[in-house]
Amino acid sequence: MNIILTGLPGAGKGTQGERIVEEFGIPHISTGDMFRAAIKEETEMGKQAKSYMDQGLLVPDEVVIGIVKERLGKADCEKGFMLDGFPRTMAQAEALDATLAELGRSIDHVINIDVDRSILMERLTGRRICKNCGATYHVIFNPPSQEGICDKCGGELYQRDDDNEATVATRLDVNIEQSAPILKYYNEKGLLRNINGQQDINKVFEDVAQVLRGQAQ
Ligand SMILES: [Zn+2]
Repeated sequence: MNIILTGLPGAGKGTQGERIVEEFGIPHISTGDMFRAAIKEETEMGKQAKSYMDQGLLVPDEVVIGIVKERLGKADCEKGFMLDGFPRTMAQAEALDATLAELGRSIDHVINIDVDRSILMERLTGRRICKNCGATYHVIFNPPSQEGICDKCGGELYQRDDDNEATVATRLDVNIEQSAPILKYYNEKGLLRNINGQQDINKVFEDVAQVLRGQAQ
């Protein structure tokens, strides 16, 4: 089972990814982990990536895809894999298809954890932190018993700059714009599975598992 897991920040992709790995026993392949491993193991592509990064340059797509290819060729990917955070660009999506074809494989499902922008705004701007002890709260999911006051120490709660509306809105909009053509690409190939991410976490996973089990049968 070869899958791509995707979803906007705050959609719950991390939680679902962990559960997919646990339930289906396929490796979780994130871009960051792949890069760190390739550089540490000093693979051919890892060395190239490092030379770009050492110069403060963006790693070009052909090196990124080279690292993906090295990773997907490893033994633990024989039964399948879950790509997370990749592909990010159309060039990467097309290169991934070509690479998989060389390996005699293809993507089975693109699992998209789908949540409305307004709900993501609510989730991502709700975090509050205690000025005194650093405890974290969420105005909806983990509220303090008294608004604005830390349960543990009575300190004042505040919102980090990263969590304010304008910053979160920009981050979401950049992500939406970046992912739109990629979702469209996989939709046209009949591979996109939109999962309603606005349900209870367990129900979201049930829906994901149903898609993945359907493929296994
Ligand atoms: Zn506190």
